[in-house]
Amino acid sequence: MPNTLPHQITSFDEYREVYQRSVDDPEAFWAAEAATFTWQKPWDEVLSWNFTDPEVRWFSGGKLNITENCLDRHLVDRGDQVAILFEPNEPGDEVVRLTYRQLHARVCQVSNALRELGVAKGDRVCFYMPMVPELAVSVLACARIGAVHSVVFAGFSAQALADRVNDADCKVIICSDYNRRGRKNIPVKEVVDEALAIGCPSVETVLVHRNTGEDVAWDPSYDCWFHEAVDQQPTDCPPQPMDAEDVLFILYTSGSTGKPKGVVHTCGGYMVYTAYTFRNVFQYSDGDVYWCTADIGWITGHSYILYGPLLCGATTMMFEGVPTYPDAGRFWKVCEKHGVNQFYTAPTALRALMAQGDDFVEGHDLSALKVIGSVGEPINEEAWEWYHEKVGKGQVPIVDTWWQTETGGIMISGLGGLSPQKATFAGYPLPGIQMALVDKNTGEELTANPESGLLCVKFPWPGILRTTWGDHERCRNTYFSTVPGMYFTGDGARRDKNGMYRIVGRVDDVINVSGHRMGTAEVENAIDEHPLVVETAVVGYPHEIKGQGIYAYVILSPGQHDADRLREEIIETVRHEIGPIAKPDKIQFVEELPKTRSGKIMRRILRKVASGETDGLGDTSTLLNPEAVESITRGRI
Ligand code: ATP
Ligand code: MG
Repeated sequence: MPNTLPHQITSFDEYREVYQRSVDDPEAFWAAEAATFTWQKPWDEVLSWNFTDPEVRWFSGGKLNITENCLDRHLVDRGDQVAILFEPNEPGDEVVRLTYRQLHARVCQVSNALRELGVAKGDRVCFYMPMVPELAVSVLACARIGAVHSVVFAGFSAQALADRVNDADCKVIICSDYNRRGRKNIPVKEVVDEALAIGCPSVETVLVHRNTGEDVAWDPSYDCWFHEAVDQQPTDCPPQPMDAEDVLFILYTSGSTGKPKGVVHTCGGYMVYTAYTFRNVFQYSDGDVYWCTADIGWITGHSYILYGPLLCGATTMMFEGVPTYPDAGRFWKVCEKHGVNQFYTAPTALRALMAQGDDFVEGHDLSALKVIGSVGEPINEEAWEWYHEKVGKGQVPIVDTWWQTETGGIMISGLGGLSPQKATFAGYPLPGIQMALVDKNTGEELTANPESGLLCVKFPWPGILRTTWGDHERCRNTYFSTVPGMYFTGDGARRDKNGMYRIVGRVDDVINVSGHRMGTAEVENAIDEHPLVVETAVVGYPHEIKGQGIYAYVILSPGQHDADRLREEIIETVRHEIGPIAKPDKIQFVEELPKTRSGKIMRRILRKVASGETDGLGDTSTLLNPEAVESITRGRI
């Protein structure tokens, strides 16, 4: 049984050479990477594709099971190495360390339990669980028996949960009794019961993990305790042979641009792509402790807490709690406690911690850090500098990783400390990724540097989405129709004279002021230059004379401020940074911005508030902070 890891690039020159090779002959390049894994049967064809239908198939005819590659093949060399390191919400509570051998045994037990409940290959299983080891174990168990997992963040409303369960016709929901978040225990099973009351006709069983042990309502016709179903099961379960193109999971996007899409990923390509990108972007070496702070309910958790790291035999940490409990120093305390070598988080968390002051980060021993990463949205310069200076002590390379639920894995990023780094630039595409900038008006590819345009991909990579669940036309229409022959990301980007990419933001976040088009991100960056500004969101609103006016929501650093004077100063800053055309017409100071769970500003809500349409704000239940909406509406100018 081969037990090799993806090829690890070790210099920037090598990156250039490998990149060229991956473009000259993508099939040979990816076939060589795929050959490092365990296949039950080799593939017949490396790739067949068209971006019209679209149809993309990698490693067709090949048979594999991703968990055999995450678990079984590591047992010989690293059976006693920690696979999952669990840091609980309560700092004094016991840290759980699951070795590869223990994880393998536990995954097999849950696999057997699921089979006993009648879950078979192709059935869908929904997860609504906190960040506890049983979540990781059960997701892998699904994959082991060929069931399709659909993880829903355990903070979404009953309605949001029911919508997702019904969209995928899930047969089982796996949940916990309660969820620990900082000082609070939040009911989880209760929300599942509410979802079932709304109506989820496909659900036959609710498997309940006892987490806090508090009381829950119980209906024996469908409720079943996790420990009762699992604990007596045999610790061995043969992995279900899967076709490379069988569905591995469905994951709903955050919905910041509309109704969430059920993005579908398949077994073979996703495996190869997440392992390759994990190893290269984080430059992971044996023995390192890697920590990604995302939730598994988000693609980052799928690809870079679970699959990528486990495929590479890494030690991956799961954190149950929140960054501000017991105080805003928790992340850094945990890094120190476990000697974290690679740390991966989101700009929204960094900005929140930055606003609490430097005392919380200073005084911690962060000397084990080798790479620190950012994901989820463009990182503004101020947050980048803070991350670099305070966390990275001016030394540790930052990888600003651009990618999407749909891409399966990281697409544009530095490779650890090998690549040149530049604040707010994600950098160069990874090997195998053929990015393009396209002119919005002509649809032509822009090949010169510097240049800016629609961010597209010209050629398939193994981690690309295959469809959107139950609605292939939506997949075609959303990603493959804007620029014929290319995958369109929905983002706009700029390439500098050296070919490094900077993500400007979503293309639909463009405002047209008196005929001048500008990205809202550009105006936000300008406002952020003011020393008292912590965060900004800019949207357009109907304006009688200009067509669209600029409405800015601004969060200030704590303290007493003279609002009128600050407004003038902010306008002056924008005038200086961009020009008078970009100066905001209205500036509203706010405490918080409405955010999705993955840290994105919910702009459709801000646009409605700015336009005065405060009645039809739509579903706000998937927000991290629904209360922000009300205070913003009240303070509208
Ligand atoms: P929906 O598609 O439903 O609106 P979403 O796009 O918010 O949801 P994700 O797939 O989690 O859901 O987010 C991907 C988007 O996040 C990218 O298209 C991009 O706009 C943004 N993004 C992610 N990482 C970065 C980054 N490093 N720099 C800039 N933008 C990023
Ligand atoms: Mg998106």
